[in-house]
Amino acid sequence: MDHLVRPLSPVAVVLDLGAGPGSFSYAGTEARVLALDVDFPDAAQGAWARVLGDSGAIPLGEETVDVVVCNHTLEHFPDCRQAIREIDRVLRPGGSLWVAVPDSGCLDDRLYRYLFLGGGHVNLFSLASLVEAIETGTRLRTRSCKKLYTGFVYLNPPDPGKVQYYPPRAQLLARIPSRILRTLLCWMNYAVRVLDRLLRTRLSQYGWGLVVRREDNSSRPVTDLARLRMEAGDANVCFACGDGHVEATLKPFRVLFRTFYKCPNCGTRNPMSPLRESSGSV
Ligand SMILES: [Zn+2]
Repeated sequence: MDHLVRPLSPVAVVLDLGAGPGSFSYAGTEARVLALDVDFPDAAQGAWARVLGDSGAIPLGEETVDVVVCNHTLEHFPDCRQAIREIDRVLRPGGSLWVAVPDSGCLDDRLYRYLFLGGGHVNLFSLASLVEAIETGTRLRTRSCKKLYTGFVYLNPPDPGKVQYYPPRAQLLARIPSRILRTLLCWMNYAVRVLDRLLRTRLSQYGWGLVVRREDNSSRPVTDLARLRMEAGDANVCFACGDGHVEATLKPFRVLFRTFYKCPNCGTRNPMSPLRESSGSV
């Protein structure tokens, strides 16, 4: 989604919907970032404006926003169709929406919801149902789609100060010695990518990221998913921090017979993904 917010001018407005601590790096754009949520943590990023509000009744006027970012939040909204209607209302004609959600059929989301008793995911999406929810009754049209990969980050050793708030199943993670758990997690990420490459499964997929435009001279809704433009995904996802990277931006190094990289965000060593992603169709 960086390519949507990076080129914006200082007078443009970006709405981070369901922002929490900030769903992307605000320093990556000169635009005015308006963070909206029902609550903000103490450590939230500094935004141009922070607004307490609900996704179902965005407290902004019509056609006032250039880009809406909905980063891993749509699955949490109590009434996601109303939130989408609100996005359609506040976006300027030609404005863009970035949506990233988990695919409820993927291993990552099934395991997460099992361990964390649903984890607050009140809306379950497939790619088809996501596109349908966005485009039905709105001027929003999906322009491209990107596969998002998992790092299974939620399986990391829990923070000792927070583990008491975990559901009982997830508390079991605290009983496994940290070093063993992190090693298992590291190689689990590698193993699912090897299986995906060999068997054409999608065990390493987390969900979907869509670029959507408000198109007033409207084209018809995207009903044929095979016609969606598919962007190459970032298959190298750090198991420690969840940052995703394309291989070309990483500095590989060899240890014995395997290639690794150091995560540019947190410095953790990860095995290089064996997956080779390319653009194409879904
Ligand atoms: Zn990292």
